Amino acid sequence: MTRAEFLKYLTMTSAGVAVSPLIKLSPSIAATRAETEVVIVGAGAAGLMAGYELQKQGISYRILEATNRYGGRVRKAEGFADFPIDIGAEWIHTDVPYELFADMVDDDDVSFDEAVVPYDPEEFFWEAGKMTKEPAESYIEYKFKNTTWFDFLDKYIVPDIRSNILLNSPVTKIDYSGETTIVTTKSGETYEADQVLVTVPMGVLKANMIDFVPALPTKKAKAIKANPYPPGLKVFIKFTNRFYPDAVAVNDSYYYDAAYRKDANSNVLALFIVGEEARVFTDLPNEAAIMKAVLAELDSVFEGKATENYVNHIVQNWSTEPYVRGSYSHNESHKIRKRILEPLDGKVFFAGEALNQDFYSTVDGAGFSALSVLEEMMG
Ligand SMILES: Cc1cc2nc3c(=O)[nH]c(=O)nc-3n(C[C@H](O)[C@H](O)[C@H](O)COP(=O)(O)OP(=O)(O)OC[C@H]3O[C@@H](n4cnc5c(N)ncnc54)[C@H](O)[C@@H]3O)c2cc1C
Repeated sequence: MTRAEFLKYLTMTSAGVAVSPLIKLSPSIAATRAETEVVIVGAGAAGLMAGYELQKQGISYRILEATNRYGGRVRKAEGFADFPIDIGAEWIHTDVPYELFADMVDDDDVSFDEAVVPYDPEEFFWEAGKMTKEPAESYIEYKFKNTTWFDFLDKYIVPDIRSNILLNSPVTKIDYSGETTIVTTKSGETYEADQVLVTVPMGVLKANMIDFVPALPTKKAKAIKANPYPPGLKVFIKFTNRFYPDAVAVNDSYYYDAAYRKDANSNVLALFIVGEEARVFTDLPNEAAIMKAVLAELDSVFEGKATENYVNHIVQNWSTEPYVRGSYSHNESHKIRKRILEPLDGKVFFAGEALNQDFYSTVDGAGFSALSVLEEMMG
């Protein structure tokens, strides 16, 4: 990813800044639906926020998650450095983080004590053997200072819904041919639902990992295929010394000081690369090959200092995560999104980061997309 593309990503995802509107279900709807059984497929930001809202409304639901953890593309690594690391979503794409948190949690009794830091690093690009400083950007975004996006979901969203999350339950079939919908998992468990909310990543839908009965309408299947969902990875490298600037773009790679403005003494440089260009790393056969390529790129810029100061690393290749299979949607077509959003016979609905019309490719966008689809489901 070139720096320009990286900045486009940041600007795009924070377009208009402020906060997505909060969707609230009316109490009367909630009351009439108390007997409804909703099955949510996927426990990422979208699935968790959907469960949180249904819980508040007293509507019966359960969340089926394929892996042994919740959070999806929100994930943290602890113990690698002296600060927790966001190995998936990391930036808070707004200039009003506490307003965003308040809208996500929507509970007047909750106050937010996690510190956030503005992300406005000194940035460079490396070209033709020269390091050139970038002009300062006019927009500001944030990161958590001592915590992570995972901690946020874990503290404010998950406690009320934890007992309704079923881990290790990959959904393989959704049969909506009858009056109620039957959801089947890999181990053969079945769940009967009045309505199903599918929040799995585009990569899972593209790979046809869920068998829909009847099959998805041709137009929807085509829209899923057409939705750009490129590869992506993050790498975190611990070094004995800090020999790098706050951030530098090298070829298509964006390297940044992961400890920037955190309470940290560890020297951790991260690589963020998303887009077709990421294939130079994501398509390599294993972690060792990826690290070799990353260190070679850094050594070429920093005269061998990367290898010299190397301590340890984390490679998070999102493209090879079996239940993610890529990074996030790069789709700018509302038409494609609308097609994918269309429910199946009023029984099976779709939500998730790729399906938020305004804030796609973000944690909050994923969550708000689920709330907006819930409104349609219950209405
Ligand atoms: C490298 C990278 C960097 C990012 N950086 C940022 C950032 O800085 N800021 C930001 O706001 N956003 C960022 N994002 C985007 C953000 O992470 C996503 O938009 C958001 O987390 C997606 O939430 P989701 O619920 O839609 O999907 P996911 O988080 O992917 O959740 C979907 C869940 O469905 C589960 N699942 C899949 N298939 C099945 C199945 N068959 N049965 C049951 N469960 C299934 C998965 O295991 C997963 O838990 C980044 C993403 C990546 C990959």
